[in-house]
Amino acid sequence: MDCITISDLEVFAYHGVLKEENTLGQKFLISAELFMDIWEAAREDDISKSINYAEVCKEIDGYLRANTFKLIETIADRLARHLLRRYKPLREVNIKVKKPWAPIMMTLDTVSVSAKRSWHNVYLSLGSNLGNKEDNINKAIQLLNDQEDCRVICKSSLKVTKPVGPVEQDDFLNGALYMQTILSPMELLRVIASIESQLKRERVIHWGPRTIDLDILLYDDEIIQSSELTIPHIEMANREFVLEPMVEIAPWLRHPIFGKTMKELLEEIC
Ligand code: AMP
Repeated sequence: MDCITISDLEVFAYHGVLKEENTLGQKFLISAELFMDIWEAAREDDISKSINYAEVCKEIDGYLRANTFKLIETIADRLARHLLRRYKPLREVNIKVKKPWAPIMMTLDTVSVSAKRSWHNVYLSLGSNLGNKEDNINKAIQLLNDQEDCRVICKSSLKVTKPVGPVEQDDFLNGALYMQTILSPMELLRVIASIESQLKRERVIHWGPRTIDLDILLYDDEIIQSSELTIPHIEMANREFVLEPMVEIAPWLRHPIFGKTMKELLEEIC
């Protein structure tokens, strides 16, 4: 990917763990690598198709003066997310925060922290079989889109499906959506859990009825296996009610483990 680089922008601000740092202030040096596609801007020689680095420098300066953080880790993380949200063409940013005057009673050149953040492509499955099912799903999508680090790009139509598993219960309404997010997989899992609890999902019976069920199907091409999270979703390739909406929004998308497209996976189980 193409990159615009800002090196060691000087900003006087008030971050630090010590009280004195918050009152007296000190110099910070900010470097930013801005990853984006500059083809169109270069072809047309048009700054409006690119990101104006003078503006970004002002934005960095303003952000660091308007907020006070204890850690340079926090500055790097928050500033990276802020720039990704602020400038639409940005796909990824790498922020380095240097603190040349770190008050440690010793001499050093600089101490620094870097944080790389980017927009990730994520697919979620949506389901409901309790209360006003369509309303529940639409509310969940709205709550997701209200998150500043998430933008819902497109959603499938919703289909009535028969429940899977041993519990006698009402039919489900199911769908899938494509979104972009700056959140890490675990941060996204927490957001989803919070939306489920806001919509009063009750976990009374395992496999039982639910006002809303949100699952992370795919997160870029990542393969994650931990006690809390399995990505790609462990059951996605076996479920028609997941693959059918996925085929509607991304038939060409390949499952990172099986190497087959959503369309091929659906054909295998139908
Ligand atoms: P359920 O709501 O029945 O799908 O189960 C939710 C639990 O499954 C959560 O507490 C997660 O820790 C775990 N889980 C594992 N992988 C995923 C995933 N890909 N998406 C959502 N939840 C997951």
